[in-house]
Amino acid sequence: MIFLKTEDEIKLLRQSNLLVGKTLAEVAKFIKPGVTTKDLDKIAEEFIRDNGAIPTFKGFPNQYGDSFPASICTSVNDQVVHGIPSEKVVLKDGDIVSIDCGTYLNGFCGDSAYTFCVGEVEPEVLQLLKVTKEALYKGIQQAVVGKRLGDIGYAIQQHCETHSYGVVREFVGHGIGKDMHEDPQVPNYGRRGYGTAIKKGLCIAIEPMITLGDRHIVMENDGWTVRTKDRKCAAHYEHTIAVDEQGANILSSFQYIEEVLGNKAI
Ligand code: MG
Ligand code: MG
Repeated sequence: MIFLKTEDEIKLLRQSNLLVGKTLAEVAKFIKPGVTTKDLDKIAEEFIRDNGAIPTFKGFPNQYGDSFPASICTSVNDQVVHGIPSEKVVLKDGDIVSIDCGTYLNGFCGDSAYTFCVGEVEPEVLQLLKVTKEALYKGIQQAVVGKRLGDIGYAIQQHCETHSYGVVREFVGHGIGKDMHEDPQVPNYGRRGYGTAIKKGLCIAIEPMITLGDRHIVMENDGWTVRTKDRKCAAHYEHTIAVDEQGANILSSFQYIEEVLGNKAI
């Protein structure tokens, strides 16, 4: 069941999502060779709690009944999503790391992700990041009253497959509100004019997961980490948006992150 949100609810949803953007920016300040993903998790958790919110990822259950042990997901290089922060994962020059963050503030969830470069990254990987972020915005442009979710998926898929990238099918975007994952599912692939109709008050997280090689994925033995089968890099960007008569309003923000990144922003 899809819960369309009122303007007051969307204001609260925006507050939670802005905090995610600020948390990712705080984490961005520390991303460099030698830092561990566990260090980044500590920074994120402290920042979220200092701002009166709860990290929604911590304790989140998977299909095996295990609880996610950290406040952010840190997915390095061939890891697509749901990587677990660890003191054993030391970021090195040339890596990419997708950081996915969720907050619970004033009764509403924030959810947003950004893929960062560690030092100097290969041009073909930089291009993957650029195209994935472009695809996110192309998807968001389709989130208007009268269109359907298939229009969002189609726009993302077209843009990425034009560049011969893989579009992950097994994980998708989602409705968001009082719960982090609500209906509907929002795939990053689809057919124009098909799927759930987009209405005023629809609040969704759009999150393309795009691979440099083919689209197939495997689950690591930890029961969480999803990586590419061919071990090529993957990128992941995510915004939470709300639809009104004018179109999509982006409730999360990359602005704080990109202020930290300065001229290194893609
Ligand atoms: Mg997320
Ligand atoms: Mg999400």
